[in-house]
Amino acid sequence: MFTYPRILYSHLNTPSQHKARMTEELSSEKDQQSSTFKPPQPRNEIFQFSLLSALVSSVYSKSVGRRMSALRSFGNFGLGTFTDLDGEMIMLDGIAYHLTFDGSIKIVEPDALLPFATLTQWPEDPMLCKMVGGRGGKHEREGNKIFDKSTVQEWIETEMASQSSNDFLAIKISGQFGYIKMRTAKAVTPEQSWRDVPSTQRVEEVQSPGLQGTMLGFRAPQWAQGVTVAGYHLHFIDERKEKGGHVLDYKVENVKIEVEIIKGFKVDLPVSKEFENAEIKFNLEDILSVEGK
Ligand SMILES: [Zn+2]
Repeated sequence: MFTYPRILYSHLNTPSQHKARMTEELSSEKDQQSSTFKPPQPRNEIFQFSLLSALVSSVYSKSVGRRMSALRSFGNFGLGTFTDLDGEMIMLDGIAYHLTFDGSIKIVEPDALLPFATLTQWPEDPMLCKMVGGRGGKHEREGNKIFDKSTVQEWIETEMASQSSNDFLAIKISGQFGYIKMRTAKAVTPEQSWRDVPSTQRVEEVQSPGLQGTMLGFRAPQWAQGVTVAGYHLHFIDERKEKGGHVLDYKVENVKIEVEIIKGFKVDLPVSKEFENAEIKFNLEDILSVEGK
């Protein structure tokens, strides 16, 4: 029987290992010259099941899916979708939620199948943390201000200026979302394909000054387009677990923005005839029609 490879999370960074990371290269160079050389600690990594290009090529049936119970060993944070693109998945603090087309939110059952998921282990002390508005906390803080999508992305890109835009970022943004525009995909029928998603998906705009919630996901480098979603890919869930979806636009205040740079990216492909026989091609136009730019 085929057994799936598993990542052991015992190697994941403690906060002190995490702080040591930025000087890791320098110290490992020094260590190599001494007799007490220890190999550098492995860094955190992103685990992805299947490919965005597989979804675009309509490879998302039950036969390619992997069970939630198997995926959760790869992290406590991430996003994905379900068989036949039936809604969106968000995993926050180790709990996976199914954001459905009808607007309801359910906890994902262990035997639910996902044809695509991207996960990581969220660090205890992320590399970057900014808080704007609100009270308390030890991190950098400015007066209250409303951020829109482009301001948040600009802030992240500026803070990351010393880092390569060729890296992956894991991003968690929590705050009061006065405005959020989201979509949830509707399960496609056998006659439909990926291309039908924009015309069948549910788009919801919520204007509610007190909507407390969390948006999380990844910024992937442009070179990864097709393997995953290049650029920002974020899903949202509110604190009461009543509203959620794939994020299209937002405005947020009293916000905490946390970012982790991730150097490892592991992809595992479906063990399935459907995947093996599919004609999976990179099609930028089809990707952008659903995932945006
Ligand atoms: Zn999404």
